[in-house]
Amino acid sequence: MILVLGASFMSQMQAKELTIGIIGGGQLARMTAIAAYRLGIQIAILDPDSNSPALQIVHKNVIGSLNDVNKLEEITKISDVITLENEFVDAPLLDHLESLGAKVYPTSKTVGLIQDKLTQKRSIDSSGIQVPNFKDVSTPEDILVAGEKYGWPLILKVRRNAYDGRGNDFIKGPEEVSRAWNILGGDKRKLMIESFIKFKKELAAMVVRNTIGETAVYPVVETIQKNHICHIVKAPADINSKAADNASKIAKMAIEAIGGIGVFGVEMFLVENDQIMINEIAPRPHNSGHYTIEACITSQYENHLRAILGYSIGSTMMLQPAAVMVNLLGNREGVSNVSGVSDALRIPGVHVHIYCKKLTRKNRKMGHVTIVGETVEESLDKALKASNLISF
Ligand code: ATP
Ligand code: MG
Repeated sequence: MILVLGASFMSQMQAKELTIGIIGGGQLARMTAIAAYRLGIQIAILDPDSNSPALQIVHKNVIGSLNDVNKLEEITKISDVITLENEFVDAPLLDHLESLGAKVYPTSKTVGLIQDKLTQKRSIDSSGIQVPNFKDVSTPEDILVAGEKYGWPLILKVRRNAYDGRGNDFIKGPEEVSRAWNILGGDKRKLMIESFIKFKKELAAMVVRNTIGETAVYPVVETIQKNHICHIVKAPADINSKAADNASKIAKMAIEAIGGIGVFGVEMFLVENDQIMINEIAPRPHNSGHYTIEACITSQYENHLRAILGYSIGSTMMLQPAAVMVNLLGNREGVSNVSGVSDALRIPGVHVHIYCKKLTRKNRKMGHVTIVGETVEESLDKALKASNLISF
């Protein structure tokens, strides 16, 4: 009798403890975990590095490669829903987890449509949304042909597993083709080419869509990249309301077109005549949405959890008129040794986020600061002051 009660008690305990498994343990998983704990949701992480930002704070860890089928099955067994913090796990492996009965959001189908930048561009293009001219290239000669067709400059991109612009190379003209080809390892990796867009601004919008197709879009923000890496996010973007509405509509359309479930970052270019082009879609919370933690009624991280659990979507509205996020980037190689946080915290209203990465390197994202305020100008000024005080 005691045993039966015990078993039933155990199953009740298990039923109550909802666990979301995240493939990848970087800062995005860490911030998702923080949002999850507030809602009483447990997080399990799969990552090769036991010191990764998210693994430091969660209790259910699977240490291993993101593309190791045994490790993926292991995290699936302890999770009610599987989600991603990057697009590096192969879609067929996610499909395998789904075939075992796992709920995986975004689905393997969605990930399969976007994890290769070429397939992604084709998916967006075929849904009628404008993208830069693009083309598959398998030899340096193909790039010369693309240059003839589209004009110079071009941007050469690694199709898979690139981030922070590390897989991109700018090609001014034909004389730079073989250099770019070699830098990006064209003989070994699949590459594609795009027209280089002389955009007026870079924009982004986070889109959240739940398991029953309810969708909401966060305010359209401006992102400013330095060396192809996101440096500053200004919310909302200083663009006219027609362009903002258009960007928001296009971002939503793109996520509906790929059947997206969860939160997605949609990176866009604002070009002449206020036309919007999509640069790329990230199937996960995104750097351009960090500001939502303090600036919006519901953060991108909470809404990601709500969406993949089939809960209602929280309001994406901003609490105050403006917010600015500045990334804290590493500026040397070595063991990280954070300093200046207490000085930065003297700036009224600053929100400091440190990701606790053990090693720093030049341009590595080590943390960020956010200021929420009345105007973008005043928030930017404070956020830059705070970011300049912190080093790693
Ligand atoms: P991230 O991880 O930072 O999103 P990524 O490595 O996936 O980046 P992209 O988003 O393709 O790379 O490119 C990084 C940056 O390079 C863009 O934000 C933009 O500033 C610039 N860029 C990319 N494609 C183009 C293009 N076709 N025309 C002009 N600039 C571009
Ligand atoms: Mg990008």
